[in-house]
Amino acid sequence: MQRRYCRCGKSILVEYRPCGPTWRAVFFRPRLLFRSRVQRCPCCGAALDIDSLS
Ligand SMILES: [Zn+2]
Repeated sequence: MQRRYCRCGKSILVEYRPCGPTWRAVFFRPRLLFRSRVQRCPCCGAALDIDSLS
């Protein structure tokens, strides 16, 4: 589990999961009690892409 940041500054959690012969990045919104999976930034709405997160 890694913490990355969207271009707007929102922190996003990234988990790498095996997907066939490669790995796939899965994004989560950081929460206190549970993690909810997201595909877009909950703050600015940008599509999350592992290459565009810093
Ligand atoms: Zn954002």
